[in-house]
Amino acid sequence: MSSRPAKSAAYVARTRPVVPPIYQSATFYLDDLAYKDIQEGGLREHWYSRFANPTVDAAAAEIAALEGAEAAFMTSSGMAAIATTLLTLLPGRIVAARQVYGDTRDLLVRDLPALGFDVAMVDATDLDEWAAAIAAAPTAVVYAETLSNPQLDLTDLAALADLAHAAGAKLVVDNTFATPYTVNPLRHGADVVVHSATKFLSGHSDVIAGVVLADAATVTEIQKRVITFGGCLDPHAAFLVWRGIQTFSLRLDRSCATAAALADRLAANPEVVSVRYPGRADYSRAEIAGRLMRTGGAMVAFTVRGGDARALAVMRRLTVASEATSLGGVETLVSTPFNSSHFSLTPEERAAARIDDGMIRLSCGIEEAEVLIADIEDALATTV
Ligand SMILES: *Cc1c(COP(=O)(O)O)cnc(C)c1O
Repeated sequence: MSSRPAKSAAYVARTRPVVPPIYQSATFYLDDLAYKDIQEGGLREHWYSRFANPTVDAAAAEIAALEGAEAAFMTSSGMAAIATTLLTLLPGRIVAARQVYGDTRDLLVRDLPALGFDVAMVDATDLDEWAAAIAAAPTAVVYAETLSNPQLDLTDLAALADLAHAAGAKLVVDNTFATPYTVNPLRHGADVVVHSATKFLSGHSDVIAGVVLADAATVTEIQKRVITFGGCLDPHAAFLVWRGIQTFSLRLDRSCATAAALADRLAANPEVVSVRYPGRADYSRAEIAGRLMRTGGAMVAFTVRGGDARALAVMRRLTVASEATSLGGVETLVSTPFNSSHFSLTPEERAAARIDDGMIRLSCGIEEAEVLIADIEDALATTV
């Protein structure tokens, strides 16, 4: 039987890998610093991987740098980041945008009310509605997505932060769709940013992960709940997130440029009724996009002539883009909200949420732009 690896300790101490190793260890040798950390509740030393793990910390540090955040903590999924953040900042009323990711909507309209929390939903683009809902009762949390799924409605973060702070509430922003490449919500007044790191941050559609970003004290409070609710990230998954982030800006350079070119070509196509892309002059909230976003981003939504049946036919003709849920990978993914993310809404409810009959949501990958655009133009031309 071997004992502790005393001989290799010196070697490990002077080994400096360029890439963070996967610390596939649930627990770590205790020493005086670790005991001190345990006793002070500092949660920084590495002694048990549900509390902190070096590989997971490495991924968090990369994302904190991208978002300009003081601190970050990784979670097992985007939903773990969102649910744990909200349960940390409550009790109190939560006022949230109606235009949110489907599972976030279930959390807000089904699960949090079942736990006794007061939740109000408003139109993300209507500041009067936000103000009225925040004023109606003491509000703890205001929740919005920078860019909504799938309408690409843009939230005026600075104005919403002012409303939230005047009422003593915290603004929590899901920045998954916009990404830190186009906007850093913490610089526009958000108190907490959450991400599905599954999407653009990791970028290869090979891992489920989430992250919470804020000032150090707030992140520590959320970390304490990740510890008790249990949604910590596995070190192997954290390694994939870390590796994906190394090419984040390169991927987004390409994806955003392709998305902008694609949006222009679609807008000129007679088979397309409308295009929603924050980088275009005809975008509904172009003035706010100009203030908030560095580029139009990598997501495009467009509506084809002939409604949802035609949209489905167009999607099925594609050979470069893939029909799949999720987004933010190196491969272009398309989906139609009517039969996926928003299938449970009636046609009237979808119309009220500005989800057009015939809308296709597209997440731009890193394929050659002309190849991707030709694929979509061919599908439009052959399904007339
Ligand atoms: C995917 C997604 C989530 C959920 O993230 P998971 O990593 O799948 O748990 C939350 N918000 C938005 C905007 C998303 O796109």
